[in-house]
Amino acid sequence: MKMRSMSGAGSKRGGDSARGYNRASVMKLVLEEPGIDRTRLADATGLTTAAMTRIVQELISAGLLKDVGALATGNGRGRKRSGLEIVGPGGFVLGLSILAFNSSIALTDMAGRTIETVRIDPTDIGNPQSTLDEIAAAAQALITKHKLDKGRILGAGAAIAGYLNSSGEVWDRSPYLGWPAFNVRRSLAERLKLDVTVDNVNRCIAVAESRMGCCAGTEELVLIRAALGLGGAIINAGEVLRGHTNQAGHIGHIPVDPDGQLCSCGARGCLNTIASGWAILDRLGLSDAQKVGPGTLESQENRLKKVLDLTAKGDPAAENAVREAGELLALHSKQLLFSLDPQAVVLTGPLGRNAVYCEAFRKTLTAYGITARIVTAHDHQITGPAPAAAALALATQVYAPSFDIRQLFADAPAAATAGSDEALVL
Ligand SMILES: [Zn+2]
Repeated sequence: MKMRSMSGAGSKRGGDSARGYNRASVMKLVLEEPGIDRTRLADATGLTTAAMTRIVQELISAGLLKDVGALATGNGRGRKRSGLEIVGPGGFVLGLSILAFNSSIALTDMAGRTIETVRIDPTDIGNPQSTLDEIAAAAQALITKHKLDKGRILGAGAAIAGYLNSSGEVWDRSPYLGWPAFNVRRSLAERLKLDVTVDNVNRCIAVAESRMGCCAGTEELVLIRAALGLGGAIINAGEVLRGHTNQAGHIGHIPVDPDGQLCSCGARGCLNTIASGWAILDRLGLSDAQKVGPGTLESQENRLKKVLDLTAKGDPAAENAVREAGELLALHSKQLLFSLDPQAVVLTGPLGRNAVYCEAFRKTLTAYGITARIVTAHDHQITGPAPAAAALALATQVYAPSFDIRQLFADAPAAATAGSDEALVL
């Protein structure tokens, strides 16, 4: 990957500096290509060798990079050079997933390796305050268990099943959990005493897959998560596409049939009503009403699982319903894919792991002339929500121009950023 250096005193955001930008570029290049040497780093960033030597030295002193000895450079017994690698235990991040049925915490190192993931079963998922308290306590216990230096915990990410407002901090609507609108970023930052980045779970997975997973290095990616409902995320030029109101990528509510069924959002004929898990249950006469809430959802999840198990046994009715939904998803997402022109389309979620649904989706898209690589959870391991949230933290807080390397040289870690937002902090 070619990265341009940033020179001069220009500052993109608050604390970002040219130095921070160049440092982040170097760290990303070393992460993507372990063993890369200083000369190639200088070439790839456009920086002078002297500037590169300085940046690398600073990262080595901070314990984030290390020399990995001499690597042969081809041409028989040519000159040998010293390469660089990320020091995995040089830093850690936490990834939290806060979903109706899958709340968990992942501890991940600098190199993106998951040290451990623990599942949390909140005492009362309907109570955001106690749930966040329990998640924060479990995160602290995980750090203690692994005997990590608190100063090396560089940040946290949170993947939520819900919609954030345009600032990306306020959990605006959570149809499945029924929580009030509140500033989830600050609520977590205060409990964890860490900087926290929050995003919708699908976006976290898209970031994880495009940076380190099945599609590492992919700058243009569309992710579709097909479960009871449909969700999605778009990576454009290597970043999450947010849109004007931070709602970009939520493909489940694309209107496809004005006379169609009522969707959970209140509109009629959304893509959700014909191509999702809920639509499959409906086609088989197994769905409840549109009413959503943890109780109803759980029974529908189990029913969907049973239907998907039936397709593996060749049950014709289940197969037909699942195939039709997969074809309709492809039919109605093709315009989006033609207009975005991604390198890869990732299909995940329970339906993304189902052979019949995936085959129908892939065949239909290919028949319409979509040439993007189609990756499904059926053929690939797709990052789970908590490790994906950790990947979000790495991407936005560590491998980012705003990363404050000074915290690794000082005694005390940098304080979590305080914000001024009027939203409720729970
Ligand atoms: Zn809808």
